Amino acid sequence: MAQGRKGKLNYRCPWCLAREIDMDMLYDRDKDEYYCLRCSFTGNEPEVLRLNAQFRAKYRDRMRRITDF
Ligand SMILES: [Zn+2]
Repeated sequence: MAQGRKGKLNYRCPWCLAREIDMDMLYDRDKDEYYCLRCSFTGNEPEVLRLNAQFRAKYRDRMRRITDF
């Protein structure tokens, strides 16, 4: 299937999320990977979850830094 299908869960792209863009990823059943049409990110489920968790930690840090100005 050339056409992307949504997975069971809709994960947001961690790379787009880092740029404050809310982008749902598509799921590639053949590769068992999620991918983003916007920034060409690809990753399996654990990777996506790890990056999203990493981003959330970074985001908190960034908010803290901004308040210091
Ligand atoms: Zn993306």
